[in-house]
Amino acid sequence: LLNEVIFLNIQWRDMRDSSAEVHLHDMVELPDVVKETGQIVAMGPVEADLRASRNNDTILVQGVLSADVTYRCSRCLQEYVDRLEVPFAEQFIKASQEMRDDEDERIATVGEEIDLDPWIEQAVVLALPYRPLCKQDCAGLCPVCGINRNESSCDCELGRIDPRLADLARFFEQQ
Ligand SMILES: [Zn+2]
Ligand SMILES: [Zn+2]
Repeated sequence: LLNEVIFLNIQWRDMRDSSAEVHLHDMVELPDVVKETGQIVAMGPVEADLRASRNNDTILVQGVLSADVTYRCSRCLQEYVDRLEVPFAEQFIKASQEMRDDEDERIATVGEEIDLDPWIEQAVVLALPYRPLCKQDCAGLCPVCGINRNESSCDCELGRIDPRLADLARFFEQQ
């Protein structure tokens, strides 16, 4: 695949013709996502496979975003990697155009270029699971001894929970 990291954008002049269609297939680096969201440990470059088309004064950009994301399981705290796939669809107009009404969700852009990176970032952030799980039936950590119950078992009596570990377990459950 493509190795070069670029800023993804569309030029209005490339879309002058109403039948114009531009195919974008590139890798986008979004370093702020890891910093700004507590849910993930790391994220590889986002592969954007998008098509831009024109409908009168509106440019529609749609397709799929995907990336390898390293999560920390909210139950057992183990890191795991999963492929995130996010549908993308946004519509853009020039800032000089009038919005249709209050419901108009088209994005007004200034200048000759539509910068897609912020919208790609927003779509990725909204798609991240709020409480990631390494697997649906993850058994989590023993609240008494902290052992990973996916890997081994213990004989702890669950009635006698070390309050520090219980707090820790609750803390991570809430993340
Ligand atoms: Zn887990
Ligand atoms: Zn235990």
